[in-house]
Amino acid sequence: MLRTYTRKAYLSKSAHVNLADFFDQARYLYNESLAERKNAWEQEQRSVTYVDQQSALTVRRRDPSWSRFPSKAQRSILKRLDRAYQHFFKRGGYPRFRSWRTGIHSFEDTAPAKVKSSGKYFSYTVKGIGCLKFREALPDGKVKLVRVVRTPRRIKLQFVMEASEPEVLDVRPPVGIDLGIKDRATLSNGYKVPKNVLDRSEIKRRQRILSRAKKGSKNRDKKRLGLAKAWQRVTEREKGKVHALTSALVKDHSCRYVVEDLKIPNMVKNRRLSRSIIEQQWGFFVQCLTYKAESAGGWVIKVNPRNTTQQCSGCGSMPREKIGLGQRTYHCYACGLSLDRDVNAARNILHRGITSDSAGIIAEMKGGYINPGDKTPSPTS
Ligand SMILES: [Zn+2]
Repeated sequence: MLRTYTRKAYLSKSAHVNLADFFDQARYLYNESLAERKNAWEQEQRSVTYVDQQSALTVRRRDPSWSRFPSKAQRSILKRLDRAYQHFFKRGGYPRFRSWRTGIHSFEDTAPAKVKSSGKYFSYTVKGIGCLKFREALPDGKVKLVRVVRTPRRIKLQFVMEASEPEVLDVRPPVGIDLGIKDRATLSNGYKVPKNVLDRSEIKRRQRILSRAKKGSKNRDKKRLGLAKAWQRVTEREKGKVHALTSALVKDHSCRYVVEDLKIPNMVKNRRLSRSIIEQQWGFFVQCLTYKAESAGGWVIKVNPRNTTQQCSGCGSMPREKIGLGQRTYHCYACGLSLDRDVNAARNILHRGITSDSAGIIAEMKGGYINPGDKTPSPTS
């Protein structure tokens, strides 16, 4: 299993300049190579491949201004163009030329040099660019790939590594999670995660400033960068919250979870709910929880969310009348159970996940839904 560790990079002034030079050259390489493919096809119906362009790069690298940077980094740019073409053949959308504004902002290094430790900092060096320092140590293991990414606010390093196997066996029981609008999440053990409040004021303010700036002016470019930075701040803050929340769940509750398989794109069509759904970042939550649970030796399974709110988690019966959105407590007329609506749903989700044995769960995970078994009567009964 591969995991990506992201670190903020600290660069010297000259390294910043060199990196900017690299990205300028990379953009030139990308556009040139795209033009070559386009012309060859339009004028001679001849296709140019990644391998062709890689050999052309080798020739180009006789020039010291090209051999100044590592060939692997430059090849990753050609590879990206190749991927853009693969995508075009499968799904359409012809690759576009990159203007200075859209630019090229990342490259990959597939056989990276070892990360060195120098007291306070760790450093990763790229030929022709210099030393990229970072603070937080990486876990033990081999780095398979490094990605250097330029974002509006900073330079990031992404280290792709083989994740290590967990050592301790976790015996805490599995937990079901109901993701909601009113509360962010409710666990089958009764624990509730409160609603997340998103502060968009800075984005709104900067959007307003940008709309007042004169079109085509230098000032407008500056304000656009300001808006991009505000967006990055908000999304990073939100992602940070999800990371903190999922880490706390795995640490304090369990490393085995059952969640609903929500089809988020379908739900976003519902305009009134869409904003809060996106804000809650459900997909990202499940993704984070999954890799954290797995690296603690557990798992996360998705089950069909149908009727989890309606069904009784005590006896499995279905009520005659639908439970409305405003009704906060679940009352069962068959067994007399009275329970918080979301805790009831979380328990149903848990039941659906653990009706099969855990070996079966893992096998069925790849196939789709878990068979709810005899605990779920059909809606007509
Ligand atoms: Zn009941």
